Amino acid sequence: MRIRGDRREFGNPLRAVLERPSVTIILVAVLGGILLMACAQIAPSPTPTEMPTPTPEPSPTPTTDIYTQQRKRMVDTQIRARGITDEAVLRAMETVPRHEFVLPRYLDQAYADHPLPIGYGQTISQPFIVAWMTELLDIDQGDKVLEIGTGSGYQAAVLAEITDQVYSVEIIEELAKSAEERLKRLGYTKVKVKHADGYYGWEEHAPYDAIIVTCAPDHVPQPLAQQLKDGGRLVIPVGPPGGYQSLWLIIKQGDQMLSKNLGGVRFVPLTGGH
Ligand code: SAH
Repeated sequence: MRIRGDRREFGNPLRAVLERPSVTIILVAVLGGILLMACAQIAPSPTPTEMPTPTPEPSPTPTTDIYTQQRKRMVDTQIRARGITDEAVLRAMETVPRHEFVLPRYLDQAYADHPLPIGYGQTISQPFIVAWMTELLDIDQGDKVLEIGTGSGYQAAVLAEITDQVYSVEIIEELAKSAEERLKRLGYTKVKVKHADGYYGWEEHAPYDAIIVTCAPDHVPQPLAQQLKDGGRLVIPVGPPGGYQSLWLIIKQGDQMLSKNLGGVRFVPLTGGH
């Protein structure tokens, strides 16, 4: 019978196993467990009120957002509202991070409607003046521009947003150095800065499509007029040091200089031993 019994066991192994009470209990427990797990998986999800509140996405660098807003407001209220229409200039003013060009103690005034000290008795010009002078230069991408008076480098950065050929001369060595480093750090790598007396321009790269002078001489320096291309524009404040000057737009036409007085402005003096 052993063979039969074996046959019976092999013939229906499940029944053979189930006939043992201890195994049955284990099987029931395992099956029950599987059933419970399956139920847990298909159980209805909690109602929305039971959902945990999702964590808000961290906003990208909040300080940048504050300055972007301030810059937009500056362009709307101080620049567009006062008649600047050149889209390239408006875009440049909206792009250059002016707060990177001011001393840390003036950070909260970086986009305010006035000039600010930059050290060494010098100032970064009022945003509107920067935009107005840039518009007067009437430059396009590819034009070669010379600036006299690098200061913080802000005006140079605004010019560099419009054309990739910007040259700037600064007479105070420390300012020339720090502006050069700042411009590099901010990605304005094509701007060339030189420490020299800008009265003499920058002969090596002349002639220029446009020249902007951001300090005031008491007469138009002849080297600057000479380094202008035919049809080139010179924007320059001229007048007594320490007082008010007139802002001039001078256009070179052949051997003539056509000049237009645009009104009163106030700049730090052009210094140097010329
Ligand atoms: N454009 C600057 C602000 C200029 S303030 C800016 O965006 O920040 C005027 C600058 O002209 C000062 O830095 C002053 O040192 C410089 N300056 C005065 N006389 C100069 C000269 N002869 N040559 C070059 N720079 C001169």
